[in-house]
Formats: sequence, C-alpha cells, structure tokens
Amino acid sequence: MEVRSLYVEPPKEAEERDWPALQFLDVFRIFTSGPTETVALRGLSLEVGSGKLVAVRGPSGCGKSTLLHLAAGLDQPSAGEVRFFGRALGRMSEQELASYRARNVAVVFQRGNLWPSLTAQENLETTLRLSESNDPSRAAREALEQFGLGHRRTQRAATLSGGEQQRIAIASAAARGAPLVLADEPTGELDSTNEKLVIDALHRLRDDHGTTVVIVTHSVTLAEQADAVIEMRDGMAA
Ligand code: ADP
Repeated sequence: MEVRSLYVEPPKEAEERDWPALQFLDVFRIFTSGPTETVALRGLSLEVGSGKLVAVRGPSGCGKSTLLHLAAGLDQPSAGEVRFFGRALGRMSEQELASYRARNVAVVFQRGNLWPSLTAQENLETTLRLSESNDPSRAAREALEQFGLGHRRTQRAATLSGGEQQRIAIASAAARGAPLVLADEPTGELDSTNEKLVIDALHRLRDDHGTTVVIVTHSVTLAEQADAVIEMRDGMAA
C-alpha cells in the first residue's frame, strides 16, 4: 500500500537547485461579484529564485496583493499555475495546502502581525507552538536576540514601535524556519531610520536563513537593494 505523507515537506537541497522557489505560469485571477467581473491578474508569469529577495512594485490596483494571496496558498488562480519549488499549489489536497501554509510560508503585513497584549517573547512562542516547533521558548529567545530585539523580550507588543513590531514579525518567520516569506508593504508606515532596520532584518532572513523573500513595496530603498524587481501593470509583469 502506498503511504503518502500529508505534509508538504520543506524543499530538499537537490530540489532547491533545480527549481525556482516560486513560479507563476500564465496566472489569471478574476473576481466575480454579481454582473461585475474584475480581472486582477491577466496572464501573470514570473519566477523567484530560491534564497532571493525580490521586490514587487506597481500602482494601486495592479494585482500585487492578489499575487501575495495566491503565493501564500490563501487563494487559487482562475487559470494558470502557481508552483512552490516545482509543486503546483492547485494540485495539492486541502490538507497539503494547509500544511504548506503552516510550514512553508510566513506572511508579514503592514500591521496586525502580533497579538497586542502578549509580550514579544510570548508572541514568538505562541507562533512557534502553533507550528509545532521544538523548544519554542529557547527558539523565541534566540530569534529575538539575533534580530537585535532581546531587550524588548518582556515588553507587550502593543507598546512597541511600528518598526519593532515589523522586526518581531520577521524574527518570528525566521524562528519558524519558513522557507518563503511574503511581506505586504512592511515599511509603508515607517520613518527612514526604522525602514532601514526593517530592510536589514529582511536581508538577514535571506542571508542567514536562506529564506526566499517576496516584498510588495513602494520603497525605493528596498527595491534598490533587492536581488530583482518585478514591475506590475494591469495584472501582468510589465
Ligand atoms: P494592489 O495590491 O496592487 O493594490 P489588488 O491585488 O488588491 O491590487 O487588486 C487588484 C484588483 O482586483 C483591484 O481592481 C481590486 O479591486 C480587485 N480585487 C481584489 N480583491 C478582490 C476581491 N476579493 N473581490 C473583488 N475584487 C477584488
């Protein structure tokens, strides 16, 4: 009898060499609401290499958030294929997709990433428990240290600055060991000093953890320091 694992394993080294971390192949996403159809993505094709940090830019409404939702496995294309290390998300069972979301992807939003009444340490520990990590307490402490946030360990998230909250969300992604991190305007509300700290944290994810990082951003600084920039226009890569 064939025994098939329910888990989507993080990519093995050989696969990492052979496949891009993320591929969109002629992806369409059409939203229908009564008689109205909105084509958010119209034949989007792109590739993000493993361990690369890629910025996605483009005017409001061009499909950037839709792209992130599809990459996160939170939504499915109307046509075309999204692949993670060569595996089509559309061919995964519900359980496999849930495992993909839990183990392989971390999403960093502009805000609302943390439980406000928990401390920084408790936030990481809670996330790590949900992803069934060994020794969450130690992993949380180490990640906070690594991202220069050790002194904020016992502070409640609600009392931290926006930049610190973003960096804690990034440290949490690192502690979970998610191979793909998707960030939606992570520096959108920050001054230039905090923007730089968050950009440094995203680089550390790539450099120290080999994480593939896809960032929707308007930040010129972030785009300048990315390995590649995907410019979007009207639901396609420009
Ligand atoms: P961006 O992130 O670049 O601003 P989005 O991906 O949010 O763009 O949206 C692309 C287009 O799809 C927009 O016209 C938006 O109104 C539409 N859209 C996005 N999500 C939905 C949805 N759930 N239902 C209907 N239309 C949507």
